[in-house]
Amino acid sequence: MKTRLTKKRQAILRVLEESSEALSAAEVHALVPEVDLATVYRNLEHFTNEKTIKKLQLGTQEARFEFQHEPHHHAVCTECERVLHFTAPDEKIKKLLRLEDFKVDELEVTVRGICNHQK
Ligand SMILES: [Zn+2]
Ligand SMILES: [Zn+2]
Repeated sequence: MKTRLTKKRQAILRVLEESSEALSAAEVHALVPEVDLATVYRNLEHFTNEKTIKKLQLGTQEARFEFQHEPHHHAVCTECERVLHFTAPDEKIKKLLRLEDFKVDELEVTVRGICNHQK
């Protein structure tokens, strides 16, 4: 029983590791249909809590999950909900913020706008 749970967990993690996009729980479930949706949700929360994956609350849509091979930020199109992943000079941004008496551990930028989806 325990072994099977671990296998399910690994299958979920593998899907996220191999995906170039952030996925919703339903999308993860579609890729590992042998794992029921409730188990997918539970494991995604588990991985998020242990910081193996990131839970993205990007606003217009349901939460998405991703395995970040490199830390990065997101730009979301408010029309087609496309998500772009980009890196930024984090150290410079931290300086620009000028947060005195505050040590920044994590910097997450979410940019909203309109992509070139109509072209
Ligand atoms: Zn768009
Ligand atoms: Zn991303």
